[in-house]
Amino acid sequence: MNAHAETTLLEQVPTGLFIGGQWRQAADGALIDVEDPATGEVLAQVADASVAECVEALDAAAAAQASWAATDPRERSEILRRAFEAITARADDFALLMTLEMGKPLAEAKGEVTYGAEFFRWFAEEAVRISGQYSVAPTGGTRLITTKHPVGPTLMITPWNFPLAMGTRKIGPALAAGCTCVVKPASQTPLTMLLLVQILTECGLPDGVVNVVTTSHTGEAMGTLMADSRLRKVTFTGSTPVGQKLIEQSAQQVLKVSMELGGNAPFLVFEDADLDEAVEGAMLAKMRNIGEACTAANRFIVHESVAEEFSERLVERMTAMKIGRGTEEGVTVGPLIDAKAVDGVHGLVQDAIDKGATLRCGGEPMPGAGHFYPPTVLLDVPAEAELVAEEIFGPVAPIRTFADEAQAIEMANASRFGLIGYVFTRDVSRAIRVAEALEFGMVGLNAGVVSNPAAPFGGVKHSGLGREGGAEGIEEYLETKYIGLKL
Ligand code: NAP
Repeated sequence: MNAHAETTLLEQVPTGLFIGGQWRQAADGALIDVEDPATGEVLAQVADASVAECVEALDAAAAAQASWAATDPRERSEILRRAFEAITARADDFALLMTLEMGKPLAEAKGEVTYGAEFFRWFAEEAVRISGQYSVAPTGGTRLITTKHPVGPTLMITPWNFPLAMGTRKIGPALAAGCTCVVKPASQTPLTMLLLVQILTECGLPDGVVNVVTTSHTGEAMGTLMADSRLRKVTFTGSTPVGQKLIEQSAQQVLKVSMELGGNAPFLVFEDADLDEAVEGAMLAKMRNIGEACTAANRFIVHESVAEEFSERLVERMTAMKIGRGTEEGVTVGPLIDAKAVDGVHGLVQDAIDKGATLRCGGEPMPGAGHFYPPTVLLDVPAEAELVAEEIFGPVAPIRTFADEAQAIEMANASRFGLIGYVFTRDVSRAIRVAEALEFGMVGLNAGVVSNPAAPFGGVKHSGLGREGGAEGIEEYLETKYIGLKL
């Protein structure tokens, strides 16, 4: 990838606030630097909205709500469908932009463009399938009618790890349902969202329906919006502590809440598993997005009879990965998002080693520019190691062993998180038994990735509330109204 292509793209991406259909800079001219995590260099500067400017974004969303809700479902659908096609046509630009601001390898960024765009196609199809019910009351006479209505203006707060897909899987169902929104992307990766909203306007989105604010006054600004009675819903993807705070704040206005929070995925390998598939699945579940995914395998739990072979093969694959800037040919491991992330991952690795784990590869931050951490495998990890309980969010695979199925399930469920669990076995009965016993919102059976716009994504326990995607996705943006009709 040449520097000219990068510069040209960056010059095209809007950097302002998008409020009421207008691009503008912050009134005081304040800016936020957006860095390339592979070099530490500043890629661009985006507007830094004041709290008042964030409220103006809600003014615009609230003003547009009634007319957007009244827009024909087919028209809402067509806008999303056109946006799906426009994102697909500009897939290379979106992919490069995500690699530049977030660090993931270009091939993975292209995968995210496909995945992210699909939410618009899926919800374009859902927009015209919103329906209610009509039934006769059990006692006869009265007719029970239920209708669906958009929840109303929604605040969307998104993280940096999937800058496109975490936006489209909120914006897609909201627009399909007839909700307007204020979107606040992560300060570290705002450029993808700004390009996305530009494309939505080119596809005919009316003014005020989607408003995007970038701000460094995040806590205060979001707190102010959450306290505003015009807001009706908050949807958040990010860390559990911030999610918990938002749930608390949502109580003031009794907002409808959707939370996609942290994970701590167990990856179970039974003695009858196809080890080729298990290792392949492990690489996907662990290394996709440099390990910076809520769905990342966080705890490998492997039957003692196959643990050695599985570990050896995993180490071989992990050490063969190419580390570098995601734009470079053949790179499979990009940088972590920032220096704090490197410190956090390294701290967890050191803690595990201090408590008795054996380091098999990696284990030291890479010297030089950028925030690189090498693929790392730890064996014999004790239960007390912090990374057994905490989300690693980096390229580190801790391996523990189990003796029988009951122990495997117990170890897997021993977490306050409950987003996804992976199970590798060739025994179908066991697969179903274990999948049913796992206290997680999602289970991958002989699969290292399960994310699919047509499926309900989400977790239980500290991993969140609600589902994104699938038939369930649009329900998060709809209220049910019951009309009782006495004949
Ligand atoms: P984060 O620190 O929680 O930030 C996420 C978003 O919340 C950012 O836009 C951030 O804005 C904003 N934010 C921070 N403090 C806030 C506050 N007090 N009030 C309102 N908003 C606030 O999370 P992250 O480090 O970016 O993302 C990684 C986390 O996301 C991981 O835990 C991961 O598991 C989780 N995740 C979950 C899913 C899922 O679907 N379950 C998917 C992807 C990621 P600023 O950038 O301005 O600080």
